[in-house]
Amino acid sequence: MRPSIIAIDGPAAAGKSTLGERLARELGYTYFDTGVMYRAITWIAIKRGIPVEDEESITALAFSLHIEVTTPTVQDGRQCSVFVDGEDVTWDIRRPEVDRVVSIVSAYPGVRKALLNQQRRIGLKGRIVVVGRDIGTVVLPEADLKIYLDASLEERARRRWKELLARGKDISYQEVLETMRDRDRIDSTRYVAPLHPAEDAIIIDTTSMGIDEVYRKVLELIGDA
Ligand code: C5P
Repeated sequence: MRPSIIAIDGPAAAGKSTLGERLARELGYTYFDTGVMYRAITWIAIKRGIPVEDEESITALAFSLHIEVTTPTVQDGRQCSVFVDGEDVTWDIRRPEVDRVVSIVSAYPGVRKALLNQQRRIGLKGRIVVVGRDIGTVVLPEADLKIYLDASLEERARRRWKELLARGKDISYQEVLETMRDRDRIDSTRYVAPLHPAEDAIIIDTTSMGIDEVYRKVLELIGDA
């Protein structure tokens, strides 16, 4: 039987969203990237001038915002649309200033609590590919197939840097590398739901693999699941 809930976890720029979106399209499943929710809270905090170090205010913000993740509402290269209280923030949440501090926001237990039930509710509907850091371990431990994508820090930074350049951002490789190193450290050492593969996850190192190769490998796994 085809797995109904597919979890894809791993560090930034390991290829999770490219794989997840393509897989969902191929299978006719919903694609759900949970990272956009943490990014949305972070972006609104920045916009409203709330310091990200202020855990209490950030937690209150997380509980007060209505975040909606939908299929693309505009065909401009987005993989999904993200709305906060009705406002389209899909591209704002990808800004480098969000990258720099999103891991501080996502480490707050209250912020994770605000999002956990929403994410579970969406995931449990099934026929879905859910992408994040803690999907196989915390959000949907009952997932039918768990994949953990990894790649070297340098390769992931190179991929993210190329993406940002393609979107016209003026940023150096070194800065992207350092932001990513920081994010990896905070994501994998935080107290609640740290980044690590689930015991029953299949780990794929994509450092020297192209997306087509990763994709074929996962299709094989689905055949076997
Ligand atoms: O996947 P993406 O890089 O967009 O995620 C942004 C940030 O959101 C991550 O660095 C991590 O801090 C947080 N995140 C998380 N748990 C998830 C998804 C993302 O903590 N399930």
